[in-house]
Amino acid sequence: MSDDNCIFCKIVNKEIPCSKVYENEKILAFLDIAPVNKGHTLVIPKKHYETLLDMPDNLLAELMKAAKKVAKAVIKVARTDGFNVIQSNKATAGQVVPHFHLHIIPRQTNDGLKFWPQGKYEEGEIEQIAKDISALL
Ligand code: 5GP
Ligand code: ZN
Repeated sequence: MSDDNCIFCKIVNKEIPCSKVYENEKILAFLDIAPVNKGHTLVIPKKHYETLLDMPDNLLAELMKAAKKVAKAVIKVARTDGFNVIQSNKATAGQVVPHFHLHIIPRQTNDGLKFWPQGKYEEGEIEQIAKDISALL
């Protein structure tokens, strides 16, 4: 399954090059062309799935296993023990390439990277939202 307009499908199909670090039958990992920190790696399924919700469970498990293996090598090369695994779903959440991917971002103490600002719940709100979510599960 491949999407003609998808840049990551083009990478999988070798229509455009990438700096590959790992591949197996179903998974490919390569360096992000615009790294947050050097060694920033993307781990993707070779088949085109848009978001986490589209990924088959068994493939997701395999991809996570591969990501763990890749992360171990990335942090060794980046000479650190810290890394983030980040994954965005849909443009609403900042997903730019609509082909599922995990970002593995090696971190250094005080590298200046800051993630999202955090907010607060009103009185009783946290209980209600937890109830609403758990009612769907
Ligand atoms: P998203 O914002 O969708 O989670 O992340 C997409 C990532 O893909 C970005 O970090 C971007 O730098 C990377 N990217 C986009 N186009 C290419 C490309 O052609 N080659 C590589 N190696 N990375 C890309
Ligand atoms: Zn694709």
